[in-house]
Amino acid sequence: MGNGQVIIVEDDISLARILAAYLEKSDFSIDIVSSGADLFKSLDARAYDGLIIDLGLPDQDGIVLVRKVRARSQVPIIVLTGRDRIEDKLICFELGVDDYIVKPVDPRELKVRLQLALRRVQDKSQNSERIRIGPVTLDYARRSVVKDKGEVIDLTPAEFMTLWVLANSDGKAVSRDDLVDAISAGDGPVSVRAVDILISRLRKKIDKKAIITVSKVGYRCGWEASEEI
Ligand code: CA
Repeated sequence: MGNGQVIIVEDDISLARILAAYLEKSDFSIDIVSSGADLFKSLDARAYDGLIIDLGLPDQDGIVLVRKVRARSQVPIIVLTGRDRIEDKLICFELGVDDYIVKPVDPRELKVRLQLALRRVQDKSQNSERIRIGPVTLDYARRSVVKDKGEVIDLTPAEFMTLWVLANSDGKAVSRDDLVDAISAGDGPVSVRAVDILISRLRKKIDKKAIITVSKVGYRCGWEASEEI
């Protein structure tokens, strides 16, 4: 499957096409979207190996996109932007981006930095797409939850993402605000109250013990997690 599947979020379409053409010659598969809403549609449709995000976008600021993407996954993120202020850089790195490149960029440099960002994550974990908690296994690419007996539990995308974030938090509590970030994709903000409703639905569908309320903070996974081989 080549060097990896990467999505470019960029409203300057001619720039995006130039970069995509160059990266495709180097055996990357590239999708291009021009807004935050379209990014989340794509992220719901497939798993990506890396993201290249512009900060100045028509619908949402790229920094907000970075925050929301990070809340749900450790996918490598490169910010590619015209903004060269140190404040923007610091925020992005605090949010966990892998690299920050100020335009104009030479496609050759972008390719090398993209390869480095992707390699770092591949070294860290081979199996981060699947995680096991208690008697169920979560599969990120398929957005499915399967019980030990093979029964598939039907979850909505928001329910799945909530459970996924909790399962991947090493037993630590996750605040309601962080869960809101993780599940509010392209369309408008999700309320804190909506998170509580999602949690009660998850408990009903899976097990009351699956999610524990941590008072004044949020929630944590009630089962220890292990990565599936
Ligand atoms: Ca832009």
